[in-house]
Amino acid sequence: MSSTIQRIGVFTSGGDAPGMNAAIRAAVRAGIYYKKDVFGIMQGYEGMISGDVVKLGARSVGNILQRGGTVLKTARSEEFKTPEGRKKAYDNLRKEGIDALIAIGGDGTFTGLHKLYQEFKMPCVCVPGTIDNDIAGTDYTIGFDTATNTAVEAIDKIRDTAMSHNRLFFIEVMGRNSGYIALNSGIAGGAGAIIIPEDGMSFDDLYAQLTSDERITKKSNLVVIAEGSKIGGANDLARKVAERSSYFDIKVTILGHLQRGGAPTYFDRVLASKMGLAAVEGLLNGVVDSMVGIRHNKIIFNQFDSVMNRPHEIDSEMMRIAKILSI
Ligand code: ATP
Repeated sequence: MSSTIQRIGVFTSGGDAPGMNAAIRAAVRAGIYYKKDVFGIMQGYEGMISGDVVKLGARSVGNILQRGGTVLKTARSEEFKTPEGRKKAYDNLRKEGIDALIAIGGDGTFTGLHKLYQEFKMPCVCVPGTIDNDIAGTDYTIGFDTATNTAVEAIDKIRDTAMSHNRLFFIEVMGRNSGYIALNSGIAGGAGAIIIPEDGMSFDDLYAQLTSDERITKKSNLVVIAEGSKIGGANDLARKVAERSSYFDIKVTILGHLQRGGAPTYFDRVLASKMGLAAVEGLLNGVVDSMVGIRHNKIIFNQFDSVMNRPHEIDSEMMRIAKILSI
């Protein structure tokens, strides 16, 4: 590796996701392995602007692999969206001698870093860390597997009470623009219906599905809804069904932020380890302005331009499986 890079800055940004710590650890240890200095930038772009930077060693990222959240903290920064904010951030990076960046975050984080690259030619690589799995250019993002397992565990528990009391439950999971958690946890949890933003299901379709001949004899059922559902969230749908029929005993559970926390699964730890290492090796091999991805279990690099603001399409086969098995 003939890179001139000497000091790598690592930070997390946007919403936290389980496995971010494993990615930080991998990036720090890979950097040190290649004899580079590695710095942690606290609170994402906020810390870049305020100069909140700490030197990290191999030992300073010990005992974090298995922990949820992010030890570098995360934040959303309005100031970084302005050219003046980015200039301040760049000046701080130069002051510390940081000559390359690794960000762990989502689409917004990539957009910010892409601008920093365009304006200052700062070498940068992103690692996709977000529970929503809503990023093009990678089969999986860090945190998605853990969040989905958390949702499945909750659905299983709700099922016990739903079946005991003959209740219809509307369970809302995270996913503002993406149905990945809902679709996967719904299939794994045996949902009677799954509502995701990418699907064109209407309220009438849902009602027909819940009251079809095969089902009307069973009062207990589970409907899993992504928070970005186009036909309303769990509360709206529960109210609409109750307005149309008094047949069901309806309850609502919104899983909310508990899906973000907890120890990352083995899958997220391994994914984060592969991606964190790849980000460092990519930078040292001259990759810039790119996002690490995983496709068919192989690490790839995508130019930011090719993944920013692009949807991560839902696999139509998964939708077909969900529909057939929910009869
Ligand atoms: P998540 O998917 O978890 O929400 P994200 O990375 O998409 O993660 P955002 O809040 O959208 O989260 O973005 C994180 C930060 O990236 C923002 O707070 C902002 O500082 C920066 N950022 C986002 N969009 C832009 C932009 N258009 N220009 C410059 N910076 C941006």
